Amino acid sequence: MAPSVRSPPIRLLYTLSSALKTTSSPLLTGHRRTFSAGNPARVEATWWKEPMERLRNIGISAHIDSGKTTLTERILYYTGRIHEIHEVRGRDGVGAKMDSMDLEREKGITIQSAATYCTWKDYQVNIIDTPGHVDFTIEVERALRVLDGAILVLCSVGGVQSQSITVDRQMRRYDVPRVAFINKLDRMGADPWKVLSQARSKLRHHSAAVQVPIGLEDDFQGLVDLVQLKAYYFHGSNGEKVVAEEIPANMEALVAEKRRELIEMVSEVDDKLAEAFLSDEPISSASLEEAIRRATVAQKFIPVFMGSAFKNKGVQPLLDGVLSYLPCPTEVSNHALDQNKNEEKVTLSGTPVGPLVALAFKLEEGRFGQLTYLRIYEGVIRKGDFIINVNTGKKIKVPRLVRMHSNEMEDIQEAHAGQIVAVFGVDCASGDTFTDGSVRYTMTSMNVPEPVMSLAISPVSKDSGGQFSKALNRFQREDPTFRVGLDAESGQTIISGMGELHLDIYVERIRREYKVDATVGRPRVNFRETVTKRAEFDYLHKKQTGGQGQYGRVCGYVEPLPEGSTTKFEFENMIVGQAIPSNFIPAIEKGFKEAANSGSLIGHPVENIRVVLTDGAAHAVDSSELAFKLAAIYAFRQCYTAAKPVILEPVMLVELKAPTEFQGTVTGDINKRKGVIVGNDQDGDDSVITAHVPLNNMFGYSTSLRSMTQGKGEFTMEYKEHSPVSQDVQLQLVNTYKANKAAENS
Ligand code: GDP
Repeated sequence: MAPSVRSPPIRLLYTLSSALKTTSSPLLTGHRRTFSAGNPARVEATWWKEPMERLRNIGISAHIDSGKTTLTERILYYTGRIHEIHEVRGRDGVGAKMDSMDLEREKGITIQSAATYCTWKDYQVNIIDTPGHVDFTIEVERALRVLDGAILVLCSVGGVQSQSITVDRQMRRYDVPRVAFINKLDRMGADPWKVLSQARSKLRHHSAAVQVPIGLEDDFQGLVDLVQLKAYYFHGSNGEKVVAEEIPANMEALVAEKRRELIEMVSEVDDKLAEAFLSDEPISSASLEEAIRRATVAQKFIPVFMGSAFKNKGVQPLLDGVLSYLPCPTEVSNHALDQNKNEEKVTLSGTPVGPLVALAFKLEEGRFGQLTYLRIYEGVIRKGDFIINVNTGKKIKVPRLVRMHSNEMEDIQEAHAGQIVAVFGVDCASGDTFTDGSVRYTMTSMNVPEPVMSLAISPVSKDSGGQFSKALNRFQREDPTFRVGLDAESGQTIISGMGELHLDIYVERIRREYKVDATVGRPRVNFRETVTKRAEFDYLHKKQTGGQGQYGRVCGYVEPLPEGSTTKFEFENMIVGQAIPSNFIPAIEKGFKEAANSGSLIGHPVENIRVVLTDGAAHAVDSSELAFKLAAIYAFRQCYTAAKPVILEPVMLVELKAPTEFQGTVTGDINKRKGVIVGNDQDGDDSVITAHVPLNNMFGYSTSLRSMTQGKGEFTMEYKEHSPVSQDVQLQLVNTYKANKAAENS
């Protein structure tokens, strides 16, 4: 059971200076109690309970241009983390704080996640900047995992747009409780009620407004809080003085109606409030607030806030809402995978008591070297501690522990579960898990899917080679599904990832963040080859030219590995006696492995194959490692066709949503792409179709879906498995491969 959390006191009047008055947590000021033998549980709870309850890890998600950067900037200003407001897009040449990268500054958009720490009314708030790109890269997933709650920003003019739908779906998928903020109430055409009803219909939000605006557009003055029943105005040059007043007389009827709607909506999902509501008892501010909190944390309800970040109105009440309604770390359950028990799921306590478990969720190249952002899920981390990177097994000393505020940092001595900190000079990759060594838990699976698509890439200018490799190195460290390799034949750099969009994003980031223009080849699907039958080999490699000759004979068979094998290639030596001297066996294994790197059908890696060596012959003088290695390579090729090889292609799990009127067209198109429809649900006016479709048939799908559905359809796609292609596709692929080879050789 999640512990109950005291709601923050809502002060009727507060100013920037009162918001800045912070008390340090007992943990950080060293008031740590020792456990007493008498009543350990009670004493133990005293030191961490309160700091944990006063902690929020939130993200801000939005459709581009709805004001996420502006809102974040205002939050940093009101919480005292920055002392001036700089508008986005560098109108004053400085740029908003969160956009630490030049590109973001120039564009005013946020594409990178970083964590920023601030305090509001004695609460620690970590704002994790969720990446703006909409596809499912591991980086987006990781940022979402780290959040305990989120603010979904919507524009009161633009309403719920396609990207709002995508980010909202991602947050739902990761069970992130959220509040909504309808921004830009000062703009012409602002209509928060229309946006609220769109959120209900398009996002399936069970939501209601917790505020009512006083005036709109040019006349937008302030907000009535439906819980406290007070009107708030924002005075001072930057709206920093929040003044509470009585509700304007002409709004009383509207306020009563909207408060009733709020109570009704929350009652539908909260039994306790429903009881009070049905028995017609008057509902106090405190009990309404508690009910909203329960329902929001349980993800059954989304409270809707309003305001104008740009005009400095409504940001402080939204921050109060974050404290009142979004969960603290102990109210969220987190799991790790026990590497000692075949990745068995373990529930973490989420408290400072217990072994350290921390996830490196983001790396940044800073002025002082690599900065690694950690979310601590259990235990305590101290400067000078030795910690273990479970993914690599390396033991590391924590040299320096800091809390980040965009580009600036504050040194700290220790941090505990729930907190987000950064460490310096720790060599690791994003997604790695650190522990104190007493457990082998990881927060994410160590089994990373193999990339499914590749493309050749090279910098246009030779001079940018250094920056180019720097970019590739960094992305590889951040994203295990992104790989860099070399094409042995052409010598070209090949990047591989989880789809067209995934690779596009990195090509674009190389250009923007590292200022390297690159030419890219056509993206190619990563096919694989495998064998379906056992086939024998018996190959003698013999060469006699002048001096020492080459002699090696290998006999045995290849066969498919049994289903469910965890290895992709197995080699077994079953020779009884000394037909081949044992010192040559490793060379033979190497030869088979090398041959399996490139199957003869289309030159792609051969997987799920077992090679068994049963016999052979050697020559006292002419046998050598090289001779046996070559014999193995030729033997593999000799028996490959008899082993009835097939080509495997990546098949994707595609989930698409479009208004039902387009269902026929969309499913027809999926069939044409040789997809298999596995699910078809109705979601309001939309059809939600799930299908398994070969990745090779999904090139350019976003464009065609857009045109098929007048821009109203959307889809996500993730790797499912590799499965055999049909006979005709295999023939076609083999013929193309042969033709290309012939052209290269002519
Ligand atoms: P992001 O792309 O979601 O980060 O949005 P930005 O914060 O960059 O804002 C996009 C544009 O909308 C900028 O020109 C902002 O100045 C403007 N903007 C942001 N919030 C408001 C608002 O409350 N009212 C008005 N009128 N404009 C806003």
